[in-house]
Amino acid sequence: MRLILLGPPGAGKGTQAQRLVEKHGIVQLSTGDMLRAAVAAQTEIGKRAKAVMDAGQLVSDEIVNQIVSERVDSDDCRRGFILDGFPRTLAQADATETMLAQKGMSLDAVIEIKVDDDVLVDRVSGRYTCANCGAGYHDTNMKPSVDGVCDKCGSAEFKRRPDDNAETLRTRLQAYYKETSPLIGFYYAKGMLSSVDGMADIDDVTAEIEVVLAAV
Ligand code: ADP
Ligand code: AMP
Repeated sequence: MRLILLGPPGAGKGTQAQRLVEKHGIVQLSTGDMLRAAVAAQTEIGKRAKAVMDAGQLVSDEIVNQIVSERVDSDDCRRGFILDGFPRTLAQADATETMLAQKGMSLDAVIEIKVDDDVLVDRVSGRYTCANCGAGYHDTNMKPSVDGVCDKCGSAEFKRRPDDNAETLRTRLQAYYKETSPLIGFYYAKGMLSSVDGMADIDDVTAEIEVVLAAV
């Protein structure tokens, strides 16, 4: 199964992707995670991307298209993958079609997670992840069952993203509406788009996504 999760920053794409990974044995391909890893490793791509990411703007299509294309060739992607945060521009969507066709692959679904703007500040400012395994949490909406201990791996170390603040979120949202939201029409016109209510509880969003996937 190959699918795209679309939605503004904080919509719940990563949260739902982690659940799909566990349930369906497919991999999560988050361009944000890949770019953050490149920044941490101080690779050439990381050095080029850091300032752009810190400002909440979009990294160039050329860079993200290349990292996704290379990643999709890995063995662990054979059973399928979830594109989380990619494609994010119409040029990236076109490149995705070409890339998948060249690799003899196709998409099964594009799922838009719809969330009102006013909850996004709370979603991103309360977000943190396990520094060891990457499991996602939230200060109020999704705490670990034991305070300060990751449910998945037991680590007591967590981290927050430098771009998860109200000011940078404004720039990221502008980029979303200007560059990414046209993809909703792009995939709707192809008959591939399904939308779920991302304002619902996390479990309810998961259930709605499973209904969509059962039909593809
Ligand atoms: P995205 O990957 O779309 O940027 P995340 O999945 O990281 O968003 O979610 C942002 C934050 O909101 C996380 O801290 C997550 O725990 C929380 N969250 C995700 N989905 C929901 C939901 N349906 N209701 C409340 N909080 C949510
Ligand atoms: P995310 O983790 O999806 O919120 O992405 C964090 C940041 O990484 C974004 O604000 C962009 O700077 C960059 N980024 C992630 N994915 C893409 C993409 N597909 N195209 C351009 N920039 C991206």
